[in-house]
Amino acid sequence: MKLATFTYGGATRTGVVEDQKIADLASIPGAPTDMVALLEGGSAGLDKLRSSLGIAKRLDLSAVRLEAPVLRPRKFLGLGASYKSHLAEVAHIMQPPKHQTWFNKQVTCVNGPYDDIQMPKVSDTLDYEGELAIVIGARGRHIKGPAVRSMIAGFTVCNDVSVREWQMRAFTATLGKSFDTHGPIGPWIVTPDELPNIHKLALRTWVNGELRQDGSTSDLIYRFGEMIEELSTVFTLEPGDILATGTPAGVGGARQPPVYLQVGDVVKIEIEGIGHIENRVVAEP
Ligand code: MG
Repeated sequence: MKLATFTYGGATRTGVVEDQKIADLASIPGAPTDMVALLEGGSAGLDKLRSSLGIAKRLDLSAVRLEAPVLRPRKFLGLGASYKSHLAEVAHIMQPPKHQTWFNKQVTCVNGPYDDIQMPKVSDTLDYEGELAIVIGARGRHIKGPAVRSMIAGFTVCNDVSVREWQMRAFTATLGKSFDTHGPIGPWIVTPDELPNIHKLALRTWVNGELRQDGSTSDLIYRFGEMIEELSTVFTLEPGDILATGTPAGVGGARQPPVYLQVGDVVKIEIEGIGHIENRVVAEP
């Protein structure tokens, strides 16, 4: 299933995307109309949803506004230096880390799949990072082995937008990763049953139609299960948490000389089997 959050007729709610239609969950009695609530129902909730989808009212996908699938996750984490190709392009400024290198993106940076990204007033070192993001579907701590699968609700596309000057101010990278609007996600969450080759998906980023990143999840150093094992060693993962799993080669800041985004640029990120997000850069108001 493709689980979406959308706005239509002034109300924001959940839906299931089927080709050019969206099944409106607000038309199914008792169905959760908030994504976190939907995910909290776990796999049993999703099975129940599947069986009741037939009665849902369908809307034209083109008539609705797609929002970030999780509007306000409780956590939004990013993994740095996780693709071999990206490590190679930044080898002149950093050593390969010995452990998974996670950082926080503040949840207030979540942005819609087609919404504008703001160029900060304080820096013009604005950069894109096309990424596959895991959406957590269960509450869990100390998750090991095959149990990690039960933690994954699905996958979505993310732009881990970064302000390089501010990212480098501190090892935490938090400020440079957390400007408002710098976390576009979407266009929906694809459940794992539709992505049998999750470790072999093409991931591409274009800026104004020019291909900048041409990677594959097969280039990741860590498997998605290892990421969940690592994080849940430390804290409880919760439904709706977003884990951006890192970016392949081709970011603007690693070019020599660096090429940063400009106001008016359009960044498109597409992942095989999921879809694409596309965001325009505008000046911070
Ligand atoms: Mg990143």
